[in-house]
Amino acid sequence: MRFNIVSGRFEETDGSPERAAVIGSDGALTWSAFKTRCEALAAMISALDLPAGHPVMVRGHKEAEMVCAMTACMMLGHPYIPLDVVVPMDRVMRIRAITGAALIIDQTDERFVDHVPFVLQNGKVRRNPEVLIEAGVPDRPADPIRYIIFTSGSTGEPKGVRITREAAGAFLEWMVNDFGFTPDDVFINQAPFSFDLSVYELFTSLHSGATLLLNDAGTAKDSRRFLDRVNEYGGSVWVSTPTFAYLYLTEPSFTGGELPTIHSFLFCGEALPKMTAQRLLDRFPAARVLNTYGPTEATVATSLIDVTLDMLAKYADMPVGRPKRDSIIRTRTDDGSVATKEAPGEIEIIGSHVSIGYLNNDELNAEKFFVDEGQRGFRTGDYGWFQDGILFFNGRRDEQVKLNGFRIELGDIGAQMLLVPGVADAIAVPLKSGDVVKRIVGFIRPAPGAEATALRGHVATHLERSLPAYMIPADLMFVDAFPVNSSHKTDRMALIDLYIKRPRA
Ligand code: AMP
Repeated sequence: MRFNIVSGRFEETDGSPERAAVIGSDGALTWSAFKTRCEALAAMISALDLPAGHPVMVRGHKEAEMVCAMTACMMLGHPYIPLDVVVPMDRVMRIRAITGAALIIDQTDERFVDHVPFVLQNGKVRRNPEVLIEAGVPDRPADPIRYIIFTSGSTGEPKGVRITREAAGAFLEWMVNDFGFTPDDVFINQAPFSFDLSVYELFTSLHSGATLLLNDAGTAKDSRRFLDRVNEYGGSVWVSTPTFAYLYLTEPSFTGGELPTIHSFLFCGEALPKMTAQRLLDRFPAARVLNTYGPTEATVATSLIDVTLDMLAKYADMPVGRPKRDSIIRTRTDDGSVATKEAPGEIEIIGSHVSIGYLNNDELNAEKFFVDEGQRGFRTGDYGWFQDGILFFNGRRDEQVKLNGFRIELGDIGAQMLLVPGVADAIAVPLKSGDVVKRIVGFIRPAPGAEATALRGHVATHLERSLPAYMIPADLMFVDAFPVNSSHKTDRMALIDLYIKRPRA
């Protein structure tokens, strides 16, 4: 059996219905049990009579039930908004305000007091009669939206990337034809569902009738437990950011001999260091290391390369792949010259897997999305160049960074710090080792009369309430004034210098 993401229907295949569809932190579901559970949930959602195409928030962590909820939404044509528990309640409510979602399907026991008309928890729907249901999605597209993933926004407001059925279909066609996976595969998940990396294993396993092995944050941090689980369930496709795999390289039993079922490592979301690829190929000589590149706005990834030892020897930089066949990747330079490593161009992606734009954000849509010969296009903000028909990545043109694979707009953190009374000015600055962000430091200029110790506490509390844990600065530093450079902009290097030379207790 499989769940066809494009049609939104379960379909019979040769695979046994008694094979596991999802193995979650709350237990495993065979394909037949999964189908029964999704149908029951879909019936409960249907009974609420939500407007057609109305978005549904799905909150939880690694429960099989979370996958049932997302699938039930797809069966009914409701876009689902995945929210891992790492997203704090204030941000969940901001997302609820942006989307007007009337229903939240939640796997926790937390109480939602305001703003949500329907909460589905523990198999029961609670109606909040105080809150009215907003009428559908204001600009409901003809092509139904499958999901809306929220990413960090530079102004402090998260951006909802809308991925339609057509875009999901274009992505899946590539997955099915070019990645060499089969329905016998067991996809090892670790990324939160609010991070589009997880769409790789979620959609591919559902669509092809394979198995999805979910691992909660506690398991992922405990290498012994994680690897035992991979062995127990015969995990075959490892999907993660390179950082996550790198951490496992310190574990001696992380080898092909100890983990014989793993045949592929699938990476996306941040630069894959050559050293990580090299060590993986050494330790897992029978496995493939697949590097892929792409933003959430173009459905998970747009380029793919099977990294080999020869390739590592041939190229000084790590290739991020060849464009998927029904898409175009351009590297646009300001003067129209051919992009090179020394003078890279901005990476633009064109194809039917590109998002129809951010939800309710015309201004940013006009800036970032475009139409080229009838096809949707997206300006990534990434720099790159081509060599031998292969794309290479070369950093960003703006203040978006990656920390352990998580996408963060530094302006989002700055905007949150500025909301705290007593903060006169604030900025988030990344500390890097080479090109890799190691930590983020928040610099704050207090308003006159603000008491430093109390203010530090207020900022920390506000950030915990409003930002996912991975976005919270590792440290805060108070300064009397922000240094400026010769172009009258805040001098980040000077701030980093102040931080490095700060007196320590
Ligand atoms: P996200 O939307 O969270 O997947 O983040 C997308 C961004 O991550 C891209 O725009 C790039 O800046 C970065 N990225 C994704 N894949 C790669 C890769 N293979 N190598 C380098 N950077 C990457």
